[in-house]
Amino acid sequence: MSLLKQWRDKAYDESANKGDLQRLWADYFEKEKNIYAELLKKPEEAVKGTVKGLADKYNIDLMTMVGFLDGINDSLVTPNPIEEMEEDTEVSLDFDNERLFKNMVAAGADWLYGLPEWNDIFDEETQKRLYTEQKQSGTVKKSKKIYPNDPCPCGSGKKYKKCHGRNGANRFEA
Ligand SMILES: [Zn+2]
Repeated sequence: MSLLKQWRDKAYDESANKGDLQRLWADYFEKEKNIYAELLKKPEEAVKGTVKGLADKYNIDLMTMVGFLDGINDSLVTPNPIEEMEEDTEVSLDFDNERLFKNMVAAGADWLYGLPEWNDIFDEETQKRLYTEQKQSGTVKKSKKIYPNDPCPCGSGKKYKKCHGRNGANRFEA
């Protein structure tokens, strides 16, 4: 079974224990945020390596790295062969700044497009313009399943229903 399929089967398993899934996603979101913060510090550096090598570099397990590669793929200059990649497949995290920012907006992930590292890449005006362009495009990224009592992916420590899952709040979609 491909790594991507293993990750998706695990992360989107409708029949899995809810607590296990909750922990998996809470863990994933925290690591994802850390990797993005790291990448955004050096936006011009095209990070490359094998799937396993990058997992080691960011100190995460292989499956989390596979999830990250799945998530970032649409924001890359050249997409990786995520469907068929193996541990030793060479992949790149060379993202397109505008596309990544917009995809974070499309996902409603303000804890990602609101990372302070963006301020060194785009001035406030540009961030506003990109945000508006994305919102007006009407493209929404498909939802990851988050239950009301799950910890909010933004890392606030609050329950999703009391944070980004509030009515009228920026709903979490990724
Ligand atoms: Zn939140």
